[in-house]
Amino acid sequence: MSSVGIPEAILSDTRLLQDLAEVAKDTALLNGVLMRTKEEPNSSELVTYAPFTLFPTAVPRGVFEQALAVQTQYNLLVDKISQDSEFLEEALASTAESDDFTGRLFSIYRQTIKEGRSQSVVLGLNRSDYMLDQQEGLPTALRQIEINTIAASFGGLASHTPDLHRHVLKVAGLSDLSHRILDNNPAAGLARGLAKAWELYGVERAVVMFLVEDVQRNIMDHRCVENELWSRDIPTIRRKFEDVSLGPDKRLFVDGQEVAVVYFRNGYMPQNYPTEQSWETRLLMERSRAIKCPDIATHLAGTKKVQQVLARPGVLERFFPEQPQVVQQIRATFAGLYTLDQGQEGDKTVAMAMANPEQFVLKPQREGGGNNFYGSEICRVLEEARGSSKRTAYILMDKVRARASVNYLLRRGAPLQPSQCLSELGVFGVYVRQGTDMVMNECVGHLLRTKSSEHADGGVAAGVAVLDNPLLV
Ligand code: ADP
Ligand code: MG
Ligand code: MG
Repeated sequence: MSSVGIPEAILSDTRLLQDLAEVAKDTALLNGVLMRTKEEPNSSELVTYAPFTLFPTAVPRGVFEQALAVQTQYNLLVDKISQDSEFLEEALASTAESDDFTGRLFSIYRQTIKEGRSQSVVLGLNRSDYMLDQQEGLPTALRQIEINTIAASFGGLASHTPDLHRHVLKVAGLSDLSHRILDNNPAAGLARGLAKAWELYGVERAVVMFLVEDVQRNIMDHRCVENELWSRDIPTIRRKFEDVSLGPDKRLFVDGQEVAVVYFRNGYMPQNYPTEQSWETRLLMERSRAIKCPDIATHLAGTKKVQQVLARPGVLERFFPEQPQVVQQIRATFAGLYTLDQGQEGDKTVAMAMANPEQFVLKPQREGGGNNFYGSEICRVLEEARGSSKRTAYILMDKVRARASVNYLLRRGAPLQPSQCLSELGVFGVYVRQGTDMVMNECVGHLLRTKSSEHADGGVAAGVAVLDNPLLV
């Protein structure tokens, strides 16, 4: 534990911890750090606090600032990739063949390319996630885990957690640490992007539509952003896949209302497309004039396969030919990433993974947590894929070795007990492009999520990680 962290005497004072946990939960409720319950995921008659850590987690200021500083470059990179069909074809062709989900997204992409895009405004709301590599004897290094270009969540709730942790610190007698928790308001930034896109669409009565899942436990996170839009008098609605239709001029309509912006908080995993009709609806929205956040190309730019291809020598240079510093700034955040395509290079990756599976993570083209493979499971999956093209559905990545620290995870119904925890820092990026003109490109805030180190994988929505704040040290 760093000398400016939470003192040992507090972390082991059971009575004080019980008191603090009560205070913390009530303050979470008062501050709107809320989530619906498992029992009633679609009703706000029963809500509880969103899971969070009792204490903020120490994060070195240098790497934190590095993550914020690179975000606008990541925004540009994602946007450039989305406009480079030659690159997307090359990067994703093998994966699209071996992974059905990527294949379906890709065929929508091909179709829209063939027909030509019907909207020149692009809105990107992404979240780049990092862990810290903290191996013995080596300097602490920021390592990107992935970038989420669709349905990146918790920007809303993260806007309410700084005050929560500051209050806990105060009650714990640690007010002098409060200034180490930064203000954070991604909700406002995400809404600024949505508002800009809505404005550029140029139809005052048109709405912003949040495309939402059937199960909506995390609705409060959405509401934070929705309410920011309403406060600007931008009409905002929530709808499911099945509710939309195409009108004249490729305009998108729902219940007679024209849709200016579709904000996808759904559609990122196979289960979100239970019927052929959901796929048809995705295509219909893609073809429409509505501004999509993200459009299908930007969605694909966020796949793990693209992430792996970007780590190959010379590829970042393709996107930033005249800017070696930008290339360096982005590349400095990469962990080792390895192809599993057919051929010698992929064979080499397999041999390397089989020899030392504990050093790697095997990732399919999935989102939402809980999909990766670790340790002996990596060997099993690669064994099963031997001799077929199945392995190209995955990429291999160096496992990032973060140092665990003690914290208490507050979750409804869970006993108060210390856990060895690992954290993941997310940075929210927002950009709006109109044709060739970048009209907005910003880093709008951050998110820290923390989980017990016994779980290899899984986010907040998956019930593994909880909300946290960086305590800058
Ligand atoms: P998803 O899109 O499902 O969130 P991620 O790539 O973020 O996929 O992986 C899910 C989780 O697995 C991460 O939140 C992190 O806890 C863990 N993880 C992923 N990649 C690594 C890695 N390279 N090293 C250590 N842990 C990782
Ligand atoms: Mg993801
Ligand atoms: Mg993730």
